[in-house]
Amino acid sequence: MEPSDYWYDLETLNVADICNIGSLDISESSKTKKKKRPYQKFSEEFPELPETVQNNSKFIIITAKNSTKTISEFSCFAVHRALNIISKEIISISTLRDGNLLILVKTKDVAEKFLKTDRLHGICEIVAKYHEALNFVKGIPYAPYLINIPEAEIKAELKSQNVHDVFKFTRTNEGVIKPTGVILVTFDLYNLPSKQDICWHTVKVREYIPNPMRCKNCQKLGHTPKFCKNTAMCCTCNLPPHAPTTCTRTECANCADKHPASSPCAKPKSSTSSNNKPYRQK
Ligand SMILES: [Zn+2]
Ligand SMILES: [Zn+2]
Ligand SMILES: [Zn+2]
Repeated sequence: MEPSDYWYDLETLNVADICNIGSLDISESSKTKKKKRPYQKFSEEFPELPETVQNNSKFIIITAKNSTKTISEFSCFAVHRALNIISKEIISISTLRDGNLLILVKTKDVAEKFLKTDRLHGICEIVAKYHEALNFVKGIPYAPYLINIPEAEIKAELKSQNVHDVFKFTRTNEGVIKPTGVILVTFDLYNLPSKQDICWHTVKVREYIPNPMRCKNCQKLGHTPKFCKNTAMCCTCNLPPHAPTTCTRTECANCADKHPASSPCAKPKSSTSSNNKPYRQK
């Protein structure tokens, strides 16, 4: 297998994933390249381990205020020193395209310290705020006992478990909207919890993978009706549109399985599987 067969989106990988890539690359290269490497003397010390990302690690954006320059235009040495004066508990720093800084700090307490700061020592005034999307992860527990409870009540009751938002999925079948029992939960956490306690129920929290873009004209994945060159098809039976008569069969336009094109396919085609990346963006 060629290394190019692997596809990763580095932005969405966590530390564990990055470690996996490292080990995978080594094993692949040792299989394919059989050349003997020159003898290397191992250093006495182990290399430094990557910083641990905790579940309450936070992403913060730092912007220069009342300044003609962006933060990245100041000396990176001076900026780095000034950031460390506020706190040394920083996991990573990166420069954004607009010249602002994105920093990942170890805990929420450290993040609050940055948010209260209005000046980078000896550099400029700053505004620090939480990143709007990166601090949230989305999961989908199945909790049919919540079907009749309003979303606002579920959200309020689960607030202590870092639940930031709740959305109950519904399914429309022949014009009737029915709840599915599956709930989209947005957690104010770095990693998605594998389980969640809802009163006396313990539920498995699966990772939320948003449905890929589907054309409402031909039902195929990967484009919108505006760019569709195919003939119109019924979402449920994959035959030419026939309303108001009911469908005579159920067939997906994308995988030909017995489900409507609006439901996710069990085995997405390789062309659409690239959309299946961990969902962090809000
Ligand atoms: Zn189409
Ligand atoms: Zn139909
Ligand atoms: Zn399908």
